[in-house]
Amino acid sequence: MNMQVKIGIGYDIHRFVPGRKLVLGGVDVPHSKGLSGYSDADIIIHAVCDAILGALGEGDIGLHFPDTDPKYKDISSLKLLKKVQGMLEKKHFKVGNIDVMLLLEAPKIAFFKDRMRSNISKILKIAAAQVSINATTAEGIGEIGRGKAAAAYAVALISKK
Ligand SMILES: [Zn+2]
Repeated sequence: MNMQVKIGIGYDIHRFVPGRKLVLGGVDVPHSKGLSGYSDADIIIHAVCDAILGALGEGDIGLHFPDTDPKYKDISSLKLLKKVQGMLEKKHFKVGNIDVMLLLEAPKIAFFKDRMRSNISKILKIAAAQVSINATTAEGIGEIGRGKAAAAYAVALISKK
């Protein structure tokens, strides 16, 4: 079956730790702690990469960018997204839209959303209006609610060029 339109879902979660920058959607967001991880731990970009890879049927981010490979240590996740975009182009697909749902107790990200959307849309060669980012809290429930971690879901629609 040669599908012209495909959909994918991505999910990522990282723990908050002191002494790290908080990078979300390629933006340094001022906060008292950051997310731990091998790369810059950008959960938004990781979820978006996984959504696109899932739509392509190309496995996941851990398969393509293993955290055992020193070249991905502290790498900006935007560079990983660029590689995923390259895979998309190679298969003659383009992104229709991306929708991201961020789960975190703090900080508020409303002020940074437009920059995040712009970072993502530039790499995917689409308009910022095709990238949606929303955030919600966990209402104090569980690890995310206690501010111990942050998570992101993303869906991606891709279509044949
Ligand atoms: Zn991640």
